[in-house]
Amino acid sequence: MNDFKAESNKLKQSMLAAMARVTNSGYFILGPEVIEFEQQWAKACGVRHGVGVANGLDAIEIGLRCLNIGPGDEVITTPMTAFATILAILKVGATPVLADINLDSALLSLTSVERCLTKKTKAVLLVHLYGQLRDMPQWVDFCSQYKTYLIEDCAQAHLAKWGTKIAGSFGICGAYSFYPTKNLGALGDAGMLVTNDLHMSQQAARLRNYGQNTRYHHSEIGMNSRLDELQAAILLARLEFLEQYTNRRQQIVGEFRSNITNSAIRLLAPPQQASAHVNHLFVVNVDDRDRLQQHLLDHSVQSLIHYPIPIHYQKPCADVRRDPQGLSNSELHAKTCLSLPCHPQMTDQDVQQVISAVNCF
Ligand SMILES: *Cc1c(COP(=O)(O)O)cnc(C)c1O
Repeated sequence: MNDFKAESNKLKQSMLAAMARVTNSGYFILGPEVIEFEQQWAKACGVRHGVGVANGLDAIEIGLRCLNIGPGDEVITTPMTAFATILAILKVGATPVLADINLDSALLSLTSVERCLTKKTKAVLLVHLYGQLRDMPQWVDFCSQYKTYLIEDCAQAHLAKWGTKIAGSFGICGAYSFYPTKNLGALGDAGMLVTNDLHMSQQAARLRNYGQNTRYHHSEIGMNSRLDELQAAILLARLEFLEQYTNRRQQIVGEFRSNITNSAIRLLAPPQQASAHVNHLFVVNVDDRDRLQQHLLDHSVQSLIHYPIPIHYQKPCADVRRDPQGLSNSELHAKTCLSLPCHPQMTDQDVQQVISAVNCF
């Protein structure tokens, strides 16, 4: 599903140079590399501010805290996401409310979100699952109509673009993860909150560092969620390759879309705009999913399931609030989805091997 060892020598040399730069600088926490990466990533996202944090989970939590979302407040999101999305809502003491997805995209359904709205709704936490931006004007309008914040979970959608706008710039803030397997990943954990709001960025910068105002002065109860210099330096090196990597992902998915002809395999709807999907994952649906997974393995093709268990079936979330009409689409998707290999190190031959294996199922 990934092959970091196959990355180019040019990238490896550049990461080693980044590590040497930090080693020799004697500056390891919240120094020039973090500042440079924050500026470059915010600029790439088309927003004014980026605050580097320890991981994507913390980026969401800090975003929620900056908006004063906590006990008694509801945040509507999807059951078809990484557990971290919900964990962030739970960690600030707010109440997650799960709306169902559309089957053709596996993204949140607007009509389901509408059914979940109450007087307590403070935010819609929109997850750009698998790398997709869809119907962005609709979400922006909806949230402004109902005076609720739009928060974007961009952990799978690095620089996905709708028109001229980038993931993370539609809502009040966007949360990025740079976990190694994301489209842009560190050599460990890293994350960033991006926003156009100056006050939010200043509060986020305090929260990630014990709530510290100026050195040893604490204005609020913060956390330790600092981004390491070493990871920021690595991310600067890897950022140089992101566009090329995303292009390669697009190419691979183009091959999949034109050559997977097995009628048992259902593809998700194509993106509404070419740049609106950065293809973090290539996901298909098939009734006999577990058998397809075994068949692929027999043909030496790995696959993963994103996600096998919708959030409301996870033990800590058994009683979670949800759409009164249920979450049947999420449940069906969880039973039938399978992620095929789709990463920039795949050779043309690898791509053909996946296609042949899928077609002979
Ligand atoms: C990876 C991921 C996260 C969490 O990011 P971490 O850096 O692992 O904390 C949150 N949401 C989604 C959709 C993710 O894919």
